[in-house]
Amino acid sequence: MKKTHMCKLISKKTLAGDVIDMKVQFPEESKPGQFIHVSCGDGVLLRRPISICDAGADWLRFTFAVRGKGTKKLAQYNTGDFLNILGPLGNGFSIDKKGDKTPLVIGGGIGIFPLLYLSKSLGAKTEAILGFRTKDLVIMEDEFKGTCARVHIATDDGSYGHKGFVTDVLKERLAKGDISSIYACGPSSMMAAVKKIAEDENIYCQLSLEERMGCGIGICAVCVCKSKGEYVKVCQNGPTFDSKEVDFDD
Ligand SMILES: Cc1cc2nc3c(=O)[nH]c(=O)nc-3n(C[C@H](O)[C@H](O)[C@H](O)COP(=O)(O)OP(=O)(O)OC[C@H]3O[C@@H](n4cnc5c(N)ncnc54)[C@H](O)[C@@H]3O)c2cc1C
Repeated sequence: MKKTHMCKLISKKTLAGDVIDMKVQFPEESKPGQFIHVSCGDGVLLRRPISICDAGADWLRFTFAVRGKGTKKLAQYNTGDFLNILGPLGNGFSIDKKGDKTPLVIGGGIGIFPLLYLSKSLGAKTEAILGFRTKDLVIMEDEFKGTCARVHIATDDGSYGHKGFVTDVLKERLAKGDISSIYACGPSSMMAAVKKIAEDENIYCQLSLEERMGCGIGICAVCVCKSKGEYVKVCQNGPTFDSKEVDFDD
């Protein structure tokens, strides 16, 4: 039975642009890749799913872009306020530390957030490829540098780091032949491309899907995605999946 917790907001920061970073007291342990379902306040009926960006024994951190009604309302909470949080939910990433090859995390935009906690668990050999639209939106570079052996940044317009998509950097990086596994989160088009590259190169790959969600606990089926021709619930069966289990529409 999943529990809701009234969680004290212990820190709140604005990162680049409209991205808010919050840390709350939280009584349960969580795994990288799990998410919380947050009640955003009066007038917003449905909770909103947000990935766990980092966590300790009695706290967790989440980071979100202000998009619509729910996240706008959530952004108005301040340090000392209490948030109603359901979680932790979903299955985390399966962490493979076997062998001496390099695990790689790859994220685009808001998809980078669950990868920070994951990169801590994968260990010091981990490399990260992080993609943003433009230089002003680059965030968490130093934090990833603190947990990863190397961090590659790509911007769509070339204003910082590699010019182009994270998948261009991925192809270049895979050419060295020392990557053991890939963990990706980002827009569907990016993840479809990562899936194809990983499967063509025969590298184990997990994807974290960020579908629109209703209940978060497997009842409403709003978040279904196609897996091997069947529908599965992202909130319950995921949000992390072996890339071979996910079918993207062409
Ligand atoms: C498992 C999971 C983890 C997530 N983790 C994070 C996170 O760590 N940080 C973060 O910023 N966001 C994350 N999201 C996306 C986040 O839940 C949505 O941005 C949020 O629910 C939007 O709510 P809103 O009321 O502000 O906007 P709404 O008014 O509901 O929508 C505003 C805009 O956001 C789009 N949108 C809404 N939900 C999604 C979604 N799931 N995926 C893509 N676009 C969406 C809508 O199409 C619309 O354009 C996650 C989603 C899932 C399912």
